Amino acid sequence: MPLHRKSKHKHQSGYVGEDIFSASATRHSVPRYKLPKHSMPAKTGYQLVRDELYLDGNSRQNLATFCTTWAEDEVQRLMADCFDKNMIDKDEYPQTAEIESRCVHMLADLWNAQDSEDTIGCSTTGSSEAAMLGGLALKWQWRKRQKDNGKSIEKPNLVCGPVQVCWHKFARYFDVELREIPLDGNEVCMNPDKIRQYVDENTIGVVATLGVTFTCVYEPVEEIARALDVIEKETGLDIPIHVDAASGGFVAPFIQPNLAWDFRIARVKSINTSGHKFGLAPLGVGWVIWRDAGELPEDLIFHVDYLGGDMPTFALNFSRPGGEIIAQYYNLIRLGFEGYREIQQACVDTAIWLGEQVTEMGPFDIFYNGKGGLPAIGYSLKPGKWGFDLYDLSDRLRMRGWQIASYPLPSNRQDTVIQRIMIRHGISRDMAALLAEDMRRAIEYFSTHPIAASEPRPTSSHSGRSSSS
Ligand SMILES: *Cc1c(COP(=O)(O)O)cnc(C)c1O
Repeated sequence: MPLHRKSKHKHQSGYVGEDIFSASATRHSVPRYKLPKHSMPAKTGYQLVRDELYLDGNSRQNLATFCTTWAEDEVQRLMADCFDKNMIDKDEYPQTAEIESRCVHMLADLWNAQDSEDTIGCSTTGSSEAAMLGGLALKWQWRKRQKDNGKSIEKPNLVCGPVQVCWHKFARYFDVELREIPLDGNEVCMNPDKIRQYVDENTIGVVATLGVTFTCVYEPVEEIARALDVIEKETGLDIPIHVDAASGGFVAPFIQPNLAWDFRIARVKSINTSGHKFGLAPLGVGWVIWRDAGELPEDLIFHVDYLGGDMPTFALNFSRPGGEIIAQYYNLIRLGFEGYREIQQACVDTAIWLGEQVTEMGPFDIFYNGKGGLPAIGYSLKPGKWGFDLYDLSDRLRMRGWQIASYPLPSNRQDTVIQRIMIRHGISRDMAALLAEDMRRAIEYFSTHPIAASEPRPTSSHSGRSSSS
């Protein structure tokens, strides 16, 4: 018979049976801006961090973002499976590299690149990095043209409509003048008739946006190309187009298949998209593709051999997770063309339905009703005594968890404040109906509790609010 002595083991703080909220780390404040001296049990740390995150908004109710906020369990599993894979290490993880390459060529095909063309491209952290790479290629190509013609390479410029902030960054970081064609009258995107006044021999390219951040409409790429054809005929300037299809690159091929905006147009030399927007991949992946390897100057490509082998790279980052690329590939093969089409069509249908609801509410002027561009709606407040402005409405809806951005249009329409509602994968008709009910309830509330200062506000006081995710 075994002998039993009293165990000498003393319970330490953090042993499995201890209650997390009576442990020292949770009963006292954890230092916020200094590294804590001691460690704490993983469970306690996890609970603390997780609890703090309750104060973040609920991403599914964030109708200001274009980005993925819902994913299948399989995507989450693949992300966990790949958390340790560095996509840059193409010798260690050749299959991840192969999968990245398949995605590039599937997209090139989706965007109607010809088999005869030597298409080239890569993944990025998102459309912003993709835009930097696309812009750099334009700048290098322009420099080469200018040098060949014995012309100055001092003052490059880039012409565009109302662009996402990434192009402002590109221009400033890489020393290019951004010539943003302003909006006038009722315009909601670039007017191709105005391009002529903005381009010259120092124009490295024109950026056309498929899915303008502010208004969700597509810029007319074909008309822009035609305007540039006329300019070429008259002046000899051959100006390339880069399409920023951050959102539209994964919508137009499925919803507007007959719209020519992509490599069907000879002048379109490169295209970027965000995999993590309507590409349905988790956050952290974008794509940039050149029609032909000849459009990507060789001296932008670095050849790295210290991970083994010879690895050509064109990227701003080095190390980066591979999971988003894998998850992108999973979505592409799991959903196929029809799967993407059905998802995007459901979003479009819900956006159009919500647009009808919002129109019926009374106070709003819809300028984009979900037809012809991204699955979204955009509207301003009609003049009148409603007892609120759009910023008040944003605040009131936020009480129910909805995040809907209010912001002024870019110049010259900065006096018009608008709201934009994005409909993405994961926003059901029921969810849209709940939002519509909350909007009606808010309007009703303001009619009996008007906000005193709901006169037009100076737009600058709200300029810190982000509208560009
Ligand atoms: C979102 C967006 C970007 C920036 O893309 P990220 O993937 O967030 O870096 C650029 N251009 C347009 C038109 C966008 O909508």
